[in-house]
Amino acid sequence: MDLSEKIRNVPDFPQPGIQFKDITTLLKDGKAFRVAIDRLVETYKDTPVDVVIGPEARGFVVGAPVAYVLGAGFVPIRKPGKLPAETISYGYTLEYGKNSLEIHKDAIEPGSKVLIVDDLLATGGTTMATIKMVEQLGGEIVGLAFLIELSFLNGRKVLEGYDITSLVKY
Ligand code: IMP
Repeated sequence: MDLSEKIRNVPDFPQPGIQFKDITTLLKDGKAFRVAIDRLVETYKDTPVDVVIGPEARGFVVGAPVAYVLGAGFVPIRKPGKLPAETISYGYTLEYGKNSLEIHKDAIEPGSKVLIVDDLLATGGTTMATIKMVEQLGGEIVGLAFLIELSFLNGRKVLEGYDITSLVKY
């Protein structure tokens, strides 16, 4: 199945000049959603993974089913003020703006093998922020997995040295 056909391009969202890749059209298609998750899982089925980490909000939708199939735990990364217990945070620059993310301080056991999953890799800022927090808590990154990679934004360069998988590249 060609998953790129299931992804909708929305021009000028959330601001003029941005070609937004909309995965809701893929998610609402049961077969496409399953194929996408299966392909991500296939890549990491022989890699020990203790915890899958997904950044809010589309990282939850893609990351949780990957964690379930791998038999791994799931840990959310959230925008500031959303997580109820003690957190650590990291500030970063997004493709279209600035943001800060948080993780629970006790979410990662030192030495845990961590797979980061998100819908889309753009500049790599979100993923790098997530990596910094995971490594600060003593986790070991075993892979970075995305449905979509915007290759022209060179996120791979920012994330050099880590194992990266993406299903659809633009
Ligand atoms: P990065 O931090 O620049 O790599 O941007 C990736 C983050 O921004 C991911 O969490 C995406 O959900 C979000 N994002 C950026 N561009 C798009 C897009 O075109 N479609 C969907 N999400 C996007």
